[in-house]
Amino acid sequence: MSSDRLKIVWIYPDLLSTYGDQGNTIILERRTALRGIPYETVQVRSDEPVPVDGHIYLLGGGEDRPQILAAQRLRNDGGLYRAAERGAVIFAVCAGYQLLGTQFGGEEGQPVQGLGLLDISSGRGEQRAVGEIVGDVAPELNVPRITGFENHQGVTRLGPNARPLARVVHGVGNGDGYEGAYAGRIIGTYMHGPALVRNPGLADLLLRWAIGRDLPPIDDSWAGRLREERLNAVLSS
Ligand code: GLN
Repeated sequence: MSSDRLKIVWIYPDLLSTYGDQGNTIILERRTALRGIPYETVQVRSDEPVPVDGHIYLLGGGEDRPQILAAQRLRNDGGLYRAAERGAVIFAVCAGYQLLGTQFGGEEGQPVQGLGLLDISSGRGEQRAVGEIVGDVAPELNVPRITGFENHQGVTRLGPNARPLARVVHGVGNGDGYEGAYAGRIIGTYMHGPALVRNPGLADLLLRWAIGRDLPPIDDSWAGRLREERLNAVLSS
């Protein structure tokens, strides 16, 4: 980490906050504080410049039109590109995930240019995917099975420079049997929930990447109970 204070940047609460993904910020703050590491969180509205000195950038889900506006403003601003070049961690959910790709589908399915930070391309699927989703994470990431809630029309194809985040056990995800994508320190997922609340292992992966070392474990028995309950409910349905 380039300073002694972890800087978490929540991108565009005014456009990408429809689905409660701001909880991802809260869980990162909490897990950082429990390790005794100082942190600060910055909320960046879409009429403000994106700071380039953040360690973790979070993007949430949103509806079609705000998603298009967010992509345009992030492209014009350029700050997220510079942060990615500096090795920042980016965690993006649903609309945020799609707009990191080369293109995604607008409200009429028209192709909209994305940021091109992830080698993925999204379009409009036949049916909206709504419901619980469960996936087994790529083994090299060393994160236990993840669970979340998906609510999207988009389907996503991965190019050769992105790898699937997880293999779908239940639900739809990208629409090809896999869920989400990652490359370097950038992760995208369709999982709301919020994802980092339901999957502390994923939260700690981001923190490990950002802080640059292994972190002491936290008592996750409450989160574990919620996970077990959800997994049992979903996989026995
Ligand atoms: N508008 C996008 C879609 O429907 C993203 C929705 C979301 O963020 N939940 O695919």
